[in-house]
Amino acid sequence: MYCEVIIDQDAKVLDKVFEYIIPDGMDAREGMRVLVPFGSRIIQGFIIKIKQECNFDKAKLKSVHSLVDDFACIKPEMLQLMKFMARKNHLTLASTLRLFITSQMREGKVKKLFKNFYKLNSAVDIQLPKTAKKQQQIVDYLKAQNRPLSAGELAGFSASSLHSLIDKQIILRESIHVQRKPFTIRQDEHRVTLNSDQARACQLINGTQTFLLHGVTGSGKTEVYMHLIERTLAEGKNAIMLVPEISLTPQIMANFKARFGERVALLHSGLSSGERFDEWNRLFEGEAQIAIGARSAIFAPLENLGIIIIDEEHEASYISESNPRYFTHDVASFRASYNKCPLVLGSATPSIESYEKAKNGQYRLIELPTRANGKEMPPLQIVDMMNEIRNGNSGIFSTQLLFELANVIKNKKQAMIFLNRRGYSSFMRCRDCGYVAKCEDCDVSLVYHKEDQRLKCHFCGKQFKVLTRCPKCGSESIKQGAVGTQQVVEKLRELFPDVKILRMDNDTTATKNAYQKILSEFKNTLPSILVGTQMIAKGHDFENVVLVGIVDADQSLYHSDYRSTERTFQLITQVAGRAGRSESEGKVILQTYAPRHYVYKFAANYDYKGFFRKEENIRQTTLFPPFTKIIRILFASHDENYVRDLLKICYNEIRQLKEKYPQDFVYLDAMKSPVKRIADKYRYQILMRLKADRADQIEQEAFDIVNNHSKDTVFFEVNPQNLS
Ligand code: ADP
Ligand code: ZN
Ligand code: ZN
Repeated sequence: MYCEVIIDQDAKVLDKVFEYIIPDGMDAREGMRVLVPFGSRIIQGFIIKIKQECNFDKAKLKSVHSLVDDFACIKPEMLQLMKFMARKNHLTLASTLRLFITSQMREGKVKKLFKNFYKLNSAVDIQLPKTAKKQQQIVDYLKAQNRPLSAGELAGFSASSLHSLIDKQIILRESIHVQRKPFTIRQDEHRVTLNSDQARACQLINGTQTFLLHGVTGSGKTEVYMHLIERTLAEGKNAIMLVPEISLTPQIMANFKARFGERVALLHSGLSSGERFDEWNRLFEGEAQIAIGARSAIFAPLENLGIIIIDEEHEASYISESNPRYFTHDVASFRASYNKCPLVLGSATPSIESYEKAKNGQYRLIELPTRANGKEMPPLQIVDMMNEIRNGNSGIFSTQLLFELANVIKNKKQAMIFLNRRGYSSFMRCRDCGYVAKCEDCDVSLVYHKEDQRLKCHFCGKQFKVLTRCPKCGSESIKQGAVGTQQVVEKLRELFPDVKILRMDNDTTATKNAYQKILSEFKNTLPSILVGTQMIAKGHDFENVVLVGIVDADQSLYHSDYRSTERTFQLITQVAGRAGRSESEGKVILQTYAPRHYVYKFAANYDYKGFFRKEENIRQTTLFPPFTKIIRILFASHDENYVRDLLKICYNEIRQLKEKYPQDFVYLDAMKSPVKRIADKYRYQILMRLKADRADQIEQEAFDIVNNHSKDTVFFEVNPQNLS
């Protein structure tokens, strides 16, 4: 017998299938990890195929050295997925395989945890001499507890007495596997009866389709997910539910634990490596049937899937932008069709791409148009900050927001102040007329690069001098930058010295449990104000929050990305959803320097569909995705001459592609990357924008060209969010 093996090393030159002989008597199966001789070394690999015949000269073949485990850690579905992902995202086979098993397991550093437990030997009649008082105490204690106890639980007793009991075989010691369990807050199960929209959604979600569940914030999507998962388990099948890392709040996890108990395994970045290893194994061994986690949980080792759910499907974190690059939806879609189960994409603000697919009939649209508690969305008021400046207020807060804050405090309620950190301090804006520096060719905002004092277009690479005077109104107060959370907190403390002001951002939540502490402090203090970044935008239900202030809505609008407007709409909707979730009336105040931008009109009316139509129209006329596909081919190397030459060669050949398909190219150019060196590697790029119809084919041809010339220095990115 022979096998095909993938070497577990991420070099593209090794990215092929190697053949080995399976020695007689070795129980090798597909998906197993093996050690194989390679050159003069023995290295790890994965068996991806077992076969009767080999394609090579048998005399030259080597034999598999040994098996690493006695089971196949890669299941058949994942072997198929490996091929799919490698082809779709131009990845090496080995790099995809690594996504499927935990790094703890691959490195072999983490193992299952076994602990000693002690119990009474039921086979012996326990007769201790009267003098053995200490031994008697231990025996009595074990009898009273009536279960095996750990060394820790017996720590209060004499160790030598325990040992003599073990020697006499009155007490038996056994080694038991213990699970390292991620922390979750305990809470009681809370059940509601589905309303008619929710019930209808659950009924429609069936079969093998992809469903786009468009439900306004607070419409009760989570309840729908739980119901679908319950149904799936009842059918004897398994479930995967993905949530963005940022909304993996202790609250959400507690809700699922309360409903599904030990059947849930959690996979997120807050776990210790031991916890992660054990949670993964509980899924692998079928002890847990539901995987809940961030992006990478889509690779959960579950078979027989009955449903896959992606919550907040529009979130950028579902796109893996570093190697191995992939889009979670593609993987989910593959797994759903392999398992013949439904895929549910849920959001209050679906991505333009997904909604377009629903419109075309590729996805089936299901709507939850009202909040589950029957309340309206809070009124959203737009404040023109240019006007504030004209009236002599050049501070962080508008008069309106200050007035409302004072009200909140007077009424002993709570407020959240949101700072938009996407695209933080990267663009230049005139403080007097609102002008923002944009690229002449691309209509995206220029990014300020401090290191070389330039404004750069991240789309086409053009560079401009930093502005010292506004080209529109001549003012000299043209500045880059925005306010930070700390600044806002200081200002608030100055204004409201007696009020609790809490801050939540990357800096204040670096330590374990800090996040939870801040939230519970906020919850228990009235009145109080929580200042934060994206972290406070979702997942929290605070009944006393009656005011949400968005200090700098524009920050995400001027990001150098064609999705900026979409992201801004999503953020506002999400943040606004924090206000007035219970009996109290809520209110949202949004400060902007561009009050007439269409995104604010639609956001203020919570009009997703109106926004979609407008945005779709703009993408269509300006030829941006989903009507085109943007491809960046990034070349990076320590040797600048080498990458520059390589770029030239590839670019010349790709230009011939443009001649072959003149109708399909919207844009093609080669240039230095906006950030020209990272980690001492020089970066150059080819950018293409292709009409959607034939984009896949041209992408493949371009890939073949590049792959022909170099294996290791090139990365392919499709519709990247970050073009630096
Ligand atoms: P979404 O995820 O759509 O924003 P949630 O799932 O967080 O909304 O639900 C919002 C609130 O409504 C939660 O407090 C939830 O318990 C409650 N809820 C959901 N469904 C119902 C229902 N059918 N009846 C009453 N309350 C509900
Ligand atoms: Zn100006
Ligand atoms: Zn440009």
